[in-house]
Amino acid sequence: MDKIQTLPAIELKSVTFAFPEISMRFDLNVEAGAMMIVTGPSGSGKSTLLNLIGGFEQAQCGAVRLIGMDVTNEAPQDRPVSFLFQDNNVFAHLTVEQNAGLGLRPSLKLTAIEREKVHIALKACGLEGKETRLPSELSGGERQRVAFARVLLENRPILLLDEPFAALGPALRSEMMELLVKLHHQREMTILAVTHHPDEWQESANGFIFVDNGSIASTGTMTDLAANSDKALRDYLGIAAR
Ligand code: ADP
Ligand code: MG
Repeated sequence: MDKIQTLPAIELKSVTFAFPEISMRFDLNVEAGAMMIVTGPSGSGKSTLLNLIGGFEQAQCGAVRLIGMDVTNEAPQDRPVSFLFQDNNVFAHLTVEQNAGLGLRPSLKLTAIEREKVHIALKACGLEGKETRLPSELSGGERQRVAFARVLLENRPILLLDEPFAALGPALRSEMMELLVKLHHQREMTILAVTHHPDEWQESANGFIFVDNGSIASTGTMTDLAANSDKALRDYLGIAAR
């Protein structure tokens, strides 16, 4: 470990949440600046975990602290969090420039300096020259890059991604991964990314969070992942017992 002691950026203390079919309970500490993958079977509660952190679901009991602030009862826009979903991250009726600009001002009334910032972010995401296009005039990968530009401009310390590359082909996935790794290094963001492909994150992520049946069954480094003795995790990864 190269860091002496880092405060947690994400803390969930006995956070409970119930849907009719499943009761969930989460305890979690993620240190500031870490990039963690969230993995586990479909229906285990990965998206709900992210939604509880982002404020799209409210904890029924327990506390959510982000960057040292209690945000348990805060709305999503009042939390230090950006969110990137698998799809539908951009508004169809807004141009590339406007969609990215939302990251600075929801009213879209940008000053000249702010418009310049939008251009810099779009350039960093490889979208120069496409500012006036509508999402329908872009590829799926380009649409995700517009969402990345918005995240860059929001400049919030925590980024939550829910299967962000699932709809993209292999080449685009690795391109988006590069962009994410760059963002992580430049901004020192704390990142949680839901994925069913832990192998794709082996090089980039610092560790994993394994969600099973509504709670966090195990956590560890990426090296720990394959060696983990948790039976449910080994079953999920398809690793035979030794
Ligand atoms: P994951 O992202 O791991 O696939 P989710 O967090 O989306 O899992 O959902 C976990 C479980 O919660 C689901 O299996 C389902 O039973 C329940 N659930 C999720 N969303 C809803 C909902 N909107 N209404 C009722 N139950 C839900
Ligand atoms: Mg999900």
